[in-house]
Amino acid sequence: MRPPRTGINRAPWLRETAVTRIAVLSLLVFASACASDPTAPESPPAGPPSVPPPDPMVAVDTLHPAPDDFALARVATADYPIPPEARFLDGVNVCLDPGHGGQASRRGYKRGPTGVREAEMNLRVARYLRAFLERAGAAVRLTRDADVDVSLKERAAIANRWGADWFISLHHNAASKPTVNRTTVWYHRDVDHRPSSLDLARHLYRGLRDALALEQITGLPLKSDQLMFKNGFGVLRHARMTSALCESSFFTHPDEEQRLRRPDYNLREAYGLFLALVRYAAGGLPRVAALTDPAAPIRAGATLRFTLDDGLRGRKAWGSGRTMILADSIAVRIDGAVVPHRFDAKRYRLSVVVPEGIAAGEHTVDVRFENMFKHSALTPPFRYRVAE
Ligand SMILES: [Zn+2]
Repeated sequence: MRPPRTGINRAPWLRETAVTRIAVLSLLVFASACASDPTAPESPPAGPPSVPPPDPMVAVDTLHPAPDDFALARVATADYPIPPEARFLDGVNVCLDPGHGGQASRRGYKRGPTGVREAEMNLRVARYLRAFLERAGAAVRLTRDADVDVSLKERAAIANRWGADWFISLHHNAASKPTVNRTTVWYHRDVDHRPSSLDLARHLYRGLRDALALEQITGLPLKSDQLMFKNGFGVLRHARMTSALCESSFFTHPDEEQRLRRPDYNLREAYGLFLALVRYAAGGLPRVAALTDPAAPIRAGATLRFTLDDGLRGRKAWGSGRTMILADSIAVRIDGAVVPHRFDAKRYRLSVVVPEGIAAGEHTVDVRFENMFKHSALTPPFRYRVAE
């Protein structure tokens, strides 16, 4: 006989179901309470805490690391021989100016597509170039030897105070088009402003071309800084000596940016610049010395006397008794206007008569000439004061 369906038989099932439902409901309520309660403990994380990846556009030390003696250990090895002409750099004062620095916190400032900083590559090339130059006997100063910001005016002032023969600003270039990659070297103002700066720029360009051998060239690799700014580049404007600014290659070019990270590539660039300066010095660095003291006041009709140095005679090589100054290249300017001169080719003496009617006060006297290597005199204009 089938047992009757009674309330007694159904009651346990009903009770169990009710208990289960209440328990599930309680759990749900508890869980939702936990989720909404800010004071409740969080569930333990699955792995290590997630940290946002570092921003490469504010990173410092973006170059591949290199040991401190990286350049020194390679100077004068078979890969980087010091040519015998390097001895003509002995006694030359070279001021190297690694562009930028100290502004890593400016997000993306002067950086390549993956964040490599121009300031860092400029400094490394400068340090490596210093190693080569000092080995050759040149005296070298850097306008900065750390990741610090130095004003453009102060960079030039460092070279001016020291009495540098050459001021060389080291940069790498940027373009909105990532495919652009070529070498340019910049001079101040126009070609007649300071002809020796063209000599420097021309040699530096040749050295960079040979060392980097970029696939692209521009038809005019020597550029006036007035193409960029009306008054030119600040560093070149304030420098009172033979000076140029290198834009060796483009860090905005993705492949070039990765090359510029590498110490061996930085060293190759520095070596190219070094050989450029060796070739420049080897062709002689002409200079002018004043025999008429610029500190003493002068008068109209007076004769100013100078000694020219072709930068070659002192070597006492066979043939150095001959004239190595191109007579037609000699020009004397007083306040920018050419005045007549007399040149004694045997004694290398130059004389100029102060024009009648010259006004009292300070005047610049600029003596220019070229030696047989077509190198222009480095000496900046003299300043004479005409008495009342
Ligand atoms: Zn730059």
